[in-house]
Amino acid sequence: MNCRTFRWFVIVFLVCCCAEVALLPVLSAQAVDTTSWFRLLTVDSGLSISLNGTKLSARAMRIGHTVLVPLSVLHQAWGAACAVSPAGSTLTIGSRRAVWQGMSATYRLDHLDLPWSVVPVLSGGQLYVPLRELMEPMGAFVGKRTPSGDVVVAYSTKWQKEPWLRQGQLAQLETVNLTHTSVTRVATTRKVVAFTFDDNWDAVAAVRIAELFRTYNGHCTFFVIGTNVRMHPDAIRTMVRLGHDIGNHTLSHPAATSITDATFVKQIQACEQVLNGMGLTSRPYFRFPYFAEDSHLMRIVTDQGYITVGSAWTIEDTGPNRSAALSVATVRRFISPGVIFVGHANSMATYDAMKAVLPELARQGYSFVSISELLRGR
Ligand SMILES: [Zn+2]
Repeated sequence: MNCRTFRWFVIVFLVCCCAEVALLPVLSAQAVDTTSWFRLLTVDSGLSISLNGTKLSARAMRIGHTVLVPLSVLHQAWGAACAVSPAGSTLTIGSRRAVWQGMSATYRLDHLDLPWSVVPVLSGGQLYVPLRELMEPMGAFVGKRTPSGDVVVAYSTKWQKEPWLRQGQLAQLETVNLTHTSVTRVATTRKVVAFTFDDNWDAVAAVRIAELFRTYNGHCTFFVIGTNVRMHPDAIRTMVRLGHDIGNHTLSHPAATSITDATFVKQIQACEQVLNGMGLTSRPYFRFPYFAEDSHLMRIVTDQGYITVGSAWTIEDTGPNRSAALSVATVRRFISPGVIFVGHANSMATYDAMKAVLPELARQGYSFVSISELLRGR
């Protein structure tokens, strides 16, 4: 080792030690949910970092075209652990491990030497690593949001074990490119709110939700999957009898972005045909499974005679951290006149959340409307 190399080695070692010390309080103070099925990290053009939509205090840095983030952010997002020894730095996320030596121009992952576009940098006691260069080979999806240019990184350690999860999650991620031509709310000062419930996997919960809204003299909207309609026709009849809207959510819930246009059209039509077989219709409202949509697909939906219904907020009743309490808290936080919420008629937890929150909203003067009532200005 020549003198210059040795000097670098000492600097890098000290730097990594500092970074490790900086990380330690985070590691011990805060349990990290590495099983979380979907974590989305966003770095905006102002270098602010958000995790699943919540802004973090740490900031990114940019060198040339490369965006770098502190290791502590990777820890927060995906439970990344950084170990430092004289042999080099190791970053572990799930079963993937990246190893690099100080200021070397490459790092090693799965027996491959991969180039850094910019070598890791120490600043303010934090070690910054190039985000895309590290996370993409780790198996993350890295993309850019248009037109803002925000860098988005989605990654789940679960993807390594269950690759089938990835498709749906990536489809969901594509919602970051939404062109916002779907209806997500209406501008009004009247206290109306449209709750919508997708999928209908749990027919008992769906019927209870349908009945609950009637006790407040209100309505809601169910976006149903054709195959579930076939399985639970009586639940659908109850929804219709109680005056709720039924919308089209395709026959079998594929991500529209991952099937051909022709298949997508068939999926819409087949859902409609199942309802037609019962003397009902899904027209004119459509919601994309996973909100996997783009302007081309929206045009297809329009050509089929449907209006695409999005939502301003989810009630957080999917994912591993779902609970009635979280859904209630989310509704409380985001309720405003004319807003469309999306939930899922897939479990009693969603019913429990509605049962808890509707009386509160009613006391505040809100009435509960279906999509057609919302758009008609009821
Ligand atoms: Zn759905």
